[in-house]
Amino acid sequence: MRVLRRPFVAPRVWVTDDALNQLAREADLHTPLETGGLLLGYWSSHPRKDEVLIESIIGPGPDAQHERSRFKPDASWQRQELADADGASGRVTTYLGDWHTHPGSVPAPSRRDRRTARTIARAHAARVPRPLMLILGGGDKATGWIPRLHLWDRGRLHEVEMRRVRDRSPSG
Ligand SMILES: [Zn+2]
Repeated sequence: MRVLRRPFVAPRVWVTDDALNQLAREADLHTPLETGGLLLGYWSSHPRKDEVLIESIIGPGPDAQHERSRFKPDASWQRQELADADGASGRVTTYLGDWHTHPGSVPAPSRRDRRTARTIARAHAARVPRPLMLILGGGDKATGWIPRLHLWDRGRLHEVEMRRVRDRSPSG
């Protein structure tokens, strides 16, 4: 029996200026070492095209370990921050996926990044079936940070476009 699979349709992705500014600040703090953290926001589903808004981010945490080409987050600190963010938003703000830096390099996923995305997708399948992975490359004075977003779907990472928004929170 043939199983027909719907082709991949890229969601529409929005990212707030706040989140982008926070990302650049966190990335600058540790460069030329890697850093990273969590992406927060929410998905909304439409019949033809899903949308996702990256509203804010969570940093690496005080006990994270930073190296040239890898980093290990302070996971218990991040869990607490995530719990606080969920409570404070009073709505559907949730964990969307991870971000990390590739200082002095391209924002393309490494083999390890693909494994990480797959692990997240499997571990959180119920809540985060399609984790986002945002990578910031570059980071030197000339280029600044170059963000590139990837979405895990149907067993692999797809590069997807992001559009900046000033602020999408209803209270402004
Ligand atoms: Zn990476």
